[in-house]
Amino acid sequence: MQKLQLEKWLLEVDVGRTREYYKQDQELCNCVDCKNYREAFTQMDPQITQLFNELGIEPTKPDLLSEFGEAKDGLHLYIGHYYLAASLIEGKYCLDSDWTSENTATLGNFTFGFAEADLSEKDDLPMPGLWLEFESKIPWVLHDPQ
Ligand SMILES: [Zn+2]
Repeated sequence: MQKLQLEKWLLEVDVGRTREYYKQDQELCNCVDCKNYREAFTQMDPQITQLFNELGIEPTKPDLLSEFGEAKDGLHLYIGHYYLAASLIEGKYCLDSDWTSENTATLGNFTFGFAEADLSEKDDLPMPGLWLEFESKIPWVLHDPQ
């Protein structure tokens, strides 16, 4: 475990264990929304890619990814979360019902916060940890129709 100051949180992270988790075979969803997300991530802002790298999260493997259609600006709102083998030492948790500038941070088009990940939520979690909860407005980069 190592301590990591990240935006408004102090985390204790097990980057090795997080990386291992994402190395497992996970079935990737083949719907166009998920494919678009994965493809768009290859063109994400470097500061976001760096965040994922630092935490050991594989950005193409979010959990519970949902897409909410095209907004007026042509971007697509996605929400989802990523498992992280970590705990929160300082800072606030966010909840779907409590999502504010105090308990989230924004990097480019990516807004995120942390919630507790309980082992009962998903059967492949290696240890109690955190969910990196996010919402992001992403362009449609696939040639396939939306
Ligand atoms: Zn999908």
